[in-house]
Amino acid sequence: VAKEKGRGNFQFYNETMRLETERKHLVQQHLHLAIEAGEFSLVFQPQVNTQGDVIGAEALLRWHNAELGMVAPDEFIPLAEETGLIHKLGKWVFESSMETLVRFQEANNIHPDFKLAINVSSKQFRNLNIVSEVEHAIVSRGLSPNNVQIEITESLLIDNKDIAVRSMLKLQSLGVSIAIDDFGTGYSSLAYIANLPIDKLKIDRSFITDLHLKSTNRKLVDTLVNMSKSLHLEVIAEGVENKQERDVLIDLGCSQFQGYLFSRPVPADKLIKDFLA
Ligand code: C2E
Ligand code: MG
Ligand code: MG
Ligand code: MG
Repeated sequence: VAKEKGRGNFQFYNETMRLETERKHLVQQHLHLAIEAGEFSLVFQPQVNTQGDVIGAEALLRWHNAELGMVAPDEFIPLAEETGLIHKLGKWVFESSMETLVRFQEANNIHPDFKLAINVSSKQFRNLNIVSEVEHAIVSRGLSPNNVQIEITESLLIDNKDIAVRSMLKLQSLGVSIAIDDFGTGYSSLAYIANLPIDKLKIDRSFITDLHLKSTNRKLVDTLVNMSKSLHLEVIAEGVENKQERDVLIDLGCSQFQGYLFSRPVPADKLIKDFLA
């Protein structure tokens, strides 16, 4: 019986793997035509302070393909990294984010320190032109680098540290600020982070979920907030979904938030109409 069951599982496993590979090939085929086909768009999620003022927004990439429907970034970003398409895609993200930042800056109610945050994956730092591409996208539109932030994950600092740090320093000297995304999920300690050119920590959503119910998460977030303050880093909580979570964060001294409680990621027009007009 055990043998039969084992064999059954083995076949099932193979079938799953075969389907995954098929899906990957299909997605990859469409992916390399998607920029030219105009299938990408950006949505923007506001970041707020304790008064509820919108002090920034994060640009998040969306891909709609006629055959595949919506494909999530968690699926296509790794594929774009594997094929090298991430460089072209990252450039597209930067250019269209800056086009949108021009429109945000023209809105009536824009915060003077508003920052538009762009996700940059570790592979993109292998492109030695990244800093000049970023600078060009900002300066050619008459925008200020002070209104631009880059989000990178901790893994970048492990895979690719020397090149990445050099680019980060150049970006900072332009006036672009740097946030560590999904903080707490990687392997780096705050002591390690302390020596890097960064401005802000984004506490990962997994620590924020049910924060009011989970004393372990409360202790962790308390530690992260206190240590980021002693390192003079800004700190923001991501994935804030309800008022109870926000209230604990305020208690712990965290004063910037992003999450469904305030807004889902929305098209630029809607963000302007609802928050900046
Ligand atoms: P991330 O940068 O950590 O982005 C936050 C993710 O959490 C987004 O998912 C956002 O829609 C989601 N989120 C925000 N608030 C809440 C909340 O309250 N509850 C829950 N459950 N989720 C929330 P999304 O848009 O699917 O993006 C996933 C990841 O894909 C991003 O994680 C980022 O790592 C990557 N990504 C997205 N856009 C880009 C891009 O333009 N370039 C690169 N390199 N990566 C990107
Ligand atoms: Mg991010
Ligand atoms: Mg994140
Ligand atoms: Mg993430």
